[in-house]
Amino acid sequence: MKTQLELARDGSITTPMQQVAEAEGFAPETIRALVAAGEIVIPMNPNRPAQKVTGIGTGLRAKVNASIGTSSDIADLALETAKARAAEEEGADTLMELSTGGDLDHIRREVLAATALPVGNVPLYQAFAEASRKYHDPNKLDPEYLFELIERQLADGISFMAIHCGINRFSIERLRKQGYRYGGLVSKGGTFMVSWMEHNQRENPLYEQFDRVCALMKKYDSVLSLGNGIRAGAIHDSHDRAQMAEMIINCELAEIARGMGCQVMVEGPGHVPLDEIEGNIMLEKRMSGNAPYYVLGPLPADTGAGYDHITAAIGAAHSVRYGADLICYITPAEHLALPNEADVREGVRATRLAARIGDIARYPNRREREKEMAKARRDTDWEKQLEYLMFPEQAKKIRASRVPENTRTCTMCGDFCAMERGISLFKDDIRGDKCGGQREDSAV
Ligand code: SF4
Repeated sequence: MKTQLELARDGSITTPMQQVAEAEGFAPETIRALVAAGEIVIPMNPNRPAQKVTGIGTGLRAKVNASIGTSSDIADLALETAKARAAEEEGADTLMELSTGGDLDHIRREVLAATALPVGNVPLYQAFAEASRKYHDPNKLDPEYLFELIERQLADGISFMAIHCGINRFSIERLRKQGYRYGGLVSKGGTFMVSWMEHNQRENPLYEQFDRVCALMKKYDSVLSLGNGIRAGAIHDSHDRAQMAEMIINCELAEIARGMGCQVMVEGPGHVPLDEIEGNIMLEKRMSGNAPYYVLGPLPADTGAGYDHITAAIGAAHSVRYGADLICYITPAEHLALPNEADVREGVRATRLAARIGDIARYPNRREREKEMAKARRDTDWEKQLEYLMFPEQAKKIRASRVPENTRTCTMCGDFCAMERGISLFKDDIRGDKCGGQREDSAV
């Protein structure tokens, strides 16, 4: 079976490419060319033919990932399937199943059955969790088991996998030599892999046998997401030499994977101050040949726990504005607890809003909905406003809880509603569609 990347290189426009083109308003040939160049990936898996088709990469709407999964403290399958459904209802584009507690094969299969979204995971989680249970020591993980597990997860229908191939002896040496890490190591899979390598004094098998990783991903046309195992988990560690070493290796591996016909994206941080986000995106894009970039916000401050969905949304608006393609949501529970269903809903909403803000900035020709919203607000046309809002149910709920005397206004200003006064003052004078002296259809 050929991958979307190989088919695109052969000149074929596949059904998924056509679906991405239609959803995003591009000519199918444009999508084919970008898939062929490795700038767009389409998570696939032949064992899950009914999953939604989503394109991630250059020119496309920034996508939102919601991560769910049990922990060793809370392993409630019903909760996780409810979270999967909630993420889909709220408009997430992809889902990551990151369980580490309970029967991990069973949980993965149930989550896959509960959603139509493309589902990704991190195979190292299950590998180290099972090694911990079996040997009471995750450092005893047999690398062969890791490859077996990757194949088992792919056979279940996983369509993108975060795999920590970029941690190697070289990147660990950079960490040791720089002599500091204010936030320590924060990637679960990354930390366990570093520990395994140090304990066994061996190279990372996922780096050493990278061609084997690519062959497995290719077999299922699943997207290889090169994990950021030494990412900074504190803004003071952002862009330190260890993180940069891993980024360079991941970009190098992205090129090798593409050469083998494997769909691939690169993962990024983490915690990055706002002024460094543009540089981070530019470096990844430049060094990877514009491979799709998957980031965790990033969080531009370390002190927002309780509201870290907002912290991350601010970072995400910037990262999307500068070119990030897939944003992993952060929930209000981040750094504090396993998210519940309400946290998942809040996290997806905040991240969708951030992605939209970023898209508005990077694609000036996609602001029409904002203009229609502005006109509906100007005209105090409440029904129309609901059509354009991203979260109409929430808006309706708030408005219904405080009903104004004059229903054309709201209880914020009541009799002193500027919108009502302004529009009656100028009647139809300001209802035209001119934009900066130009007609709106020629203004873009
Ligand atoms: S009452 Fe105030 S806040 Fe409400 S619509 Fe009018 S101007 Fe806007």
